[in-house]
Amino acid sequence: MNYPELTNTEIDLLDAGICPDCKSTKFLRGPCGGLSVNIACANPECHSRFNVTPGISGGFGKERISEKSPKCDPNTGLPTGSATGTLSFHEQ
Ligand SMILES: [Zn+2]
Repeated sequence: MNYPELTNTEIDLLDAGICPDCKSTKFLRGPCGGLSVNIACANPECHSRFNVTPGISGGFGKERISEKSPKCDPNTGLPTGSATGTLSFHEQ
């Protein structure tokens, strides 16, 4: 499975501990394999996942392991599976 390459900007954000997709600063730590660690954005509306190598900045050892914000519609950035188009506002 191939996911979008991380851009230099996204790599810089990951180095700073910031989710490149939603700018959240909270990550959940997943399984470690060798030197690298899987992390998932803790924002439930984003949940992008990455593989990073702790202690090493820059592009080495970093990759995206999910779609960009897999829980959001890539076109709107809104969460998928919840609101189906119309919001529940009713005109009086
Ligand atoms: Zn995120």
